[in-house]
Amino acid sequence: MTDETPDLRASAADTLSSLPDVSGEGGRILLAAPRGYCAGVDRAVDVVEKALDLYGAPVYVRKEIVHNKFVVESLTKRGAIFVQETDEVPEGARIVFSAHGVSPQVHEAAKARNLATIDATCPLVTKVHREAVRFAKDDYDIILVGHQGHEEVEGTYGEAPSHIQVVGTPDEVDSIEVRDPERVVWISQTTLSVDETRETVNRLRQRFPKLSDPPSDDICYATQNRQVAVKTIAPKVDVMVVVGSANSSNSVRLVEVALEAGAGGAHRVDKAEELKPEWFEGAKTVGLTSGASVPEILVREVVEWLQARGFPTVEVVRTENETITFALPRNLRAELAEKGLADARPHAPRKTGPNHTR
Ligand code: SF4
Repeated sequence: MTDETPDLRASAADTLSSLPDVSGEGGRILLAAPRGYCAGVDRAVDVVEKALDLYGAPVYVRKEIVHNKFVVESLTKRGAIFVQETDEVPEGARIVFSAHGVSPQVHEAAKARNLATIDATCPLVTKVHREAVRFAKDDYDIILVGHQGHEEVEGTYGEAPSHIQVVGTPDEVDSIEVRDPERVVWISQTTLSVDETRETVNRLRQRFPKLSDPPSDDICYATQNRQVAVKTIAPKVDVMVVVGSANSSNSVRLVEVALEAGAGGAHRVDKAEELKPEWFEGAKTVGLTSGASVPEILVREVVEWLQARGFPTVEVVRTENETITFALPRNLRAELAEKGLADARPHAPRKTGPNHTR
């Protein structure tokens, strides 16, 4: 692996085991676990890498495969071409759909251009799409709790536009109009704040006492686990650093959760170079986490930056062990098998390494 092709899927355990031993006097870093890649992101990045290996460059990808600048730049260097819409892709070429999912209209547009598609939509997003389709078939008014304009919300909305209304905040609940208040159901984006969503749903239930719930949580396990880890650490830290891109919903939520849970301050950065020494003046304990689309290499660089500036000790605070993995899309698996290339998935779970102190 060269600097040009960083290992986008290196595990957290790899990072920690190779940190320089600089333990000594000074402040400490509380490192959240779980953090970083979720199973859906790990799979989506793997899809693009495998497609590049199989077919060679270029491989077109609609929108950012995951919301992380570094990942997108790294895959671009390897030959991925990121486009906004299918009409930017030459007829008959191959396109990957991102982890956030796409609406049926996008599938249709790809078909019309005769594009070969590989769908890297996270299976947990697909689950929400299926709920939308089922509730629309049963003629419910569906309230989709989520951020207007987010790709995942656009994709889910597109499954049943005549039945779905998007609600972003508790206050927006007041302006909703439904056909039958007894036949209303809510579903949600997968990467929301658990607490804020609860507030929105409570407001919905006040307006529509017969409100139906989705069959299971739509906010995914990874979003929830990262928020729980941050809530555990936040009251103990002077400053929380969240590694993640500005358009990463779950990363932005982690900053909010940290502040609500008592962190003295919280900053989101894409990479270590964006850290400012003045944020850490007088601090004794720094919390560190990363969003679900962030490769571990970026966390490692932040740890090194902090270690070089008076925070030599790293303590991992683990609140959950994650073992979920998702198989690659069926058509990609079939092509890999045809070419005699092994699909290592479902591979051994990528864990964040044992709790330890350095
Ligand atoms: S954050 Fe959750 S829903 Fe989104 S890709 Fe990861 S596992 Fe899937």
